[in-house]
Amino acid sequence: MSAPVDNAVVEYVAHVALYRQEFRRYLRELEVADQWRTAVFSSAEDGLAHDATMMARLHADGWNRYGWPEAAGGLGGNEIHRAVYYEELGHAMLPIPAQQWTLETLGPALIRFAPDLAATYMPGYLSGAEWWGQSFSEPESGSDLATLRTRAVDDGAGGFVVNGQKIWTSQGPTAKRLLALVRTGTPESRHRGLTMMMIDAEAPGVTIRPIALASGRRELAEVFFDDVRVDRERVVGDVDGGWAVAMHLMQYERGMYGYAVLNKVLVELGRLREDMVTAGTTPAQRQRFAGVYVDVVAAQARTATTVRRLAAGEAVGADSSIDKLLFGRAEKKANDLILEITREQMIAGAATSGSATGRGGAALDTARAEWWYSRAATVMGGTAEVQRGIIADHILGLPKESRGQRK
Ligand SMILES: Cc1cc2nc3c(=O)[nH]c(=O)nc-3n(C[C@H](O)[C@H](O)[C@H](O)COP(=O)(O)OP(=O)(O)OC[C@H]3O[C@@H](n4cnc5c(N)ncnc54)[C@H](O)[C@@H]3O)c2cc1C
Repeated sequence: MSAPVDNAVVEYVAHVALYRQEFRRYLRELEVADQWRTAVFSSAEDGLAHDATMMARLHADGWNRYGWPEAAGGLGGNEIHRAVYYEELGHAMLPIPAQQWTLETLGPALIRFAPDLAATYMPGYLSGAEWWGQSFSEPESGSDLATLRTRAVDDGAGGFVVNGQKIWTSQGPTAKRLLALVRTGTPESRHRGLTMMMIDAEAPGVTIRPIALASGRRELAEVFFDDVRVDRERVVGDVDGGWAVAMHLMQYERGMYGYAVLNKVLVELGRLREDMVTAGTTPAQRQRFAGVYVDVVAAQARTATTVRRLAAGEAVGADSSIDKLLFGRAEKKANDLILEITREQMIAGAATSGSATGRGGAALDTARAEWWYSRAATVMGGTAEVQRGIIADHILGLPKESRGQRK
């Protein structure tokens, strides 16, 4: 006997198929598509400013609002719509606006745990008017967030006073708001005493210092909080309930974000393929390319399953660590392949010159910046070692590691 057909599901699938078809046609006819496809920037700030104009355009025409709830400025639908949005940008060889990486990480947690804040601020994000940073990591606390020290003290007047330091906040130098995980419990309360709050980057007492990466691009920031007052209504979820918000968020940072990243990687491999067709290739390079391609497609299949589970409202939990491991590794390998095959230009090509592979000038600089950034693929969002630990503990149920017996 076949399973009963859920009409709502059938209707949604048809809706998504129509969205794909219409969005594809829109991108084909978009008059700025060529300029957008080839745009390269020498600084992270310029790149974000350009991407904000593209988000504004996609928002005005409605396309990037699908997949987000109407109450948060979207046009309805779920993660499947967003996955198709990333796929179709990739199909058109267009880049994903950089702000969307962080939106994919922070947006779902805000919608779930602070719907009022999402209703107020998400429309501005979707329209490219503003973007936010994720301020979790601290100088002494990255892998083990239960040791966070930035402190928020109830001021008895409907708010908190925050003091401390965050580090490695992506998009921090230009972010308008920060989603910060801070300690409201005792210093020993570990994960039970953490609270998530939205803090305006321009609030008195917030100092943001950009951090230049190896590429020279100022993509990250240190954030200092000195007696920063935050209204209680800016709390995301419950006071002392920040861990649940962070865990929900990480499913997206490791699954949904991964799906989008892999679409971007496939575009990069597509460009490399064009370079190879133009410049010629060796049998070893063909082999390497095919191997990396399979890794990327396998990781994409894994994250696609996670996207479907998230869309169905399932708690993915520790399973998303498998996604994170697979997509981080695939992203790194793809960038290593690009470096290997275009090594001469990547190492020695002048920023102003053309190249045999068609990568020249600022495009070469951007390819180098991508390679540098991909070094962090197995660090950011939780290191590969930590993901393996989570898989060992929570999925495989292996015996706990006894310290001092590591081999
Ligand atoms: C490009 C980039 C962007 C980032 N963006 C953000 C952001 O937007 N917001 C944010 O909050 N943070 C961000 N981060 C920080 C990132 O989340 C942390 O770097 C990461 O979680 C690791 O923390 P850590 O750097 O403190 O290293 P540590 O936690 O000090 O780890 C050092 C080493 O010890 C290993 N290690 C630690 N614990 C274990 C364990 N239990 N088992 C086995 N090995 C272990 C790690 O794998 C690592 O090799 C970003 C980092 C990078 C590089």
